[in-house]
Amino acid sequence: MSDQISLDALLRPDLRGASPYGAPQLDVPVRLNTNENSYPVPEDVVADITARVAAVAPELNRYPDREFTELRTELAAYLSRTGGVELEPAQLWAGNGSNEVLQHVVLAFGGPGRTALGFTPAYSMHPLISTGVGTTWVDGLRGQGTDAPFDLTVESAVEQVREHQPHVVFLCSPNNPTGTALTLDVVEAVYAAAERAVVVVDEAYAEFARPGTPSALTLLQGRPRLVVTRTMSKAFAFAGGRLGYLAADPALVDALRLVRLPYHLSAPTQAIALAALAHADQMLGTVEAIKEQRDRMVAELADLGFAPVASDANFVLFGGLVDAAATWRDLLDRGVLVRDVGIPHYLRVTAGTPAETDAFLAAAAEVATTAT
Ligand code: PMP
Repeated sequence: MSDQISLDALLRPDLRGASPYGAPQLDVPVRLNTNENSYPVPEDVVADITARVAAVAPELNRYPDREFTELRTELAAYLSRTGGVELEPAQLWAGNGSNEVLQHVVLAFGGPGRTALGFTPAYSMHPLISTGVGTTWVDGLRGQGTDAPFDLTVESAVEQVREHQPHVVFLCSPNNPTGTALTLDVVEAVYAAAERAVVVVDEAYAEFARPGTPSALTLLQGRPRLVVTRTMSKAFAFAGGRLGYLAADPALVDALRLVRLPYHLSAPTQAIALAALAHADQMLGTVEAIKEQRDRMVAELADLGFAPVASDANFVLFGGLVDAAATWRDLLDRGVLVRDVGIPHYLRVTAGTPAETDAFLAAAAEVATTAT
């Protein structure tokens, strides 16, 4: 007898009809769609990575250090050196990409019967990670309808927090996909208004921020419900290494141990992340060059008649497009893959090498008259 029940009927009702995260991975000459760092890992770091993997390989019969103590120590040292604040290893937590540490936070503090609030447009995984573990998602607004549509003001953020009384609040600074960083007064005000919430500041792009943009790490002291997430995928040029991390109060970090799967960070992952951290200055050596390309893109896109948004990240959101999907296709036909993030009349492009910027701007110049 054939099985009559459809998979759709078996699937959790709240997942029926949902779409997975799906940035296209197309094999084209210029890939500027996922905000990776275009520069390869330097050769001497590759040698160190290889040596460290070789060193742990004979012991792969054993589980890795479940508490990844050495890695937490080195992450704390790195943030203490660069983040403007002294942090202890007990304040650090890591996962396979910052997506995983974000998931740990909502597993522990969100979930069924609870609400998470974000301010859209922001990182598309915040709602997916939240609803994936049964949390109700509330799409908050930025400045839609005003002449600063992507800005988030203290007044508006606080009002929305009061209205929705969330259990988890997501802020993203610098914000993906709009590019701009939040001022710390927004973080402080949201934290004060969200009295029963864990407040997450996703700082995946922090290392690219323009001068005068302090990290929310400087607010951790005295705020036991504040979480700041970071990643090695962007400035650190280590997206394939899959290492994201967060800093928070030790008690909050301790709670995350309730929801992580045992041994979630493999021995090779811990080893290669330690290798990358040992060469942090070198790994971060391309940040200034990428910022230059970002600023060049903003200036030249404006000259071409597009409407780029100021950016503190390694990408630029640009608007003024008649039909974003058509322009996306026209750029792809010229060998340049950018991202259609679903904001009408806008596309997002990652800042990479000078040659990639040349190729992107040449293609943009070709399509400019029909696109804008
Ligand atoms: N946060 C933001 C804002 C991002 O843009 C991304 C990657 N696109 C991530 C988190 C997750 O990155 P990863 O899991 O590679 O650390």
